[in-house]
Amino acid sequence: MTTLQKILESSSGLKLKLKINDNRSTMLSVKWEPDHAKVSLHRMFLQAPQNVMDALACYLRREDESIAPSVKAFIEDNLKQLDYTHQLDQTKLYTQGNVYDLKRIYNEINREYFQNSLNLKITWFGKGVQRNRSRVTFGLYHDATKLIKVNRLLDSPAYPEYVIAYVVYHEMVHHVCPAYFDENGHHHIHSDEFKKQEALFRHFDLAQSWIKENRANFFV
Ligand SMILES: [Zn+2]
Repeated sequence: MTTLQKILESSSGLKLKLKINDNRSTMLSVKWEPDHAKVSLHRMFLQAPQNVMDALACYLRREDESIAPSVKAFIEDNLKQLDYTHQLDQTKLYTQGNVYDLKRIYNEINREYFQNSLNLKITWFGKGVQRNRSRVTFGLYHDATKLIKVNRLLDSPAYPEYVIAYVVYHEMVHHVCPAYFDENGHHHIHSDEFKKQEALFRHFDLAQSWIKENRANFFV
């Protein structure tokens, strides 16, 4: 029996079947049975402070109907620090495209804007064909694996290099200015701080207007 289980059982007064997990999808799940509760907690809770443990016990006793803000904030803070880079299959990263080399572009931006301080991975994603005609995602950043993904559609002479560089820079800023929840529970993905950083890109206005002008062509 873990210490965490003993603490939670005595503070909640319930018998628990506790599972500690290490996956990205379940932070906290509870299933109440007549004589015990099945609880799955992410391993981050092994280091939870007292106020979080107290709020968790209230929730387990069903005194609180929903998960307390202190518990949500604890999860959010810890999610940012989770490092799943070891789960990344490096052999599945493709940086050299037909036209553009993402690694070269990433390295140049890292040098120019971040003093080479970022240590992120980058890859092309997709097949280079547009499936969904109403929406196109140029780039993504996956925090847990520190991976930037750029849509292979952009690996074309039709796209100027400063547009690809802008997409890469945007995703790098996501690493520097992570999304957060404010005290009202609103999720800020492109925060004011993010937008300030993003506008520092040398070709920011040029890239924005190019994307605006060529938007119609993305969907043919
Ligand atoms: Zn974004």
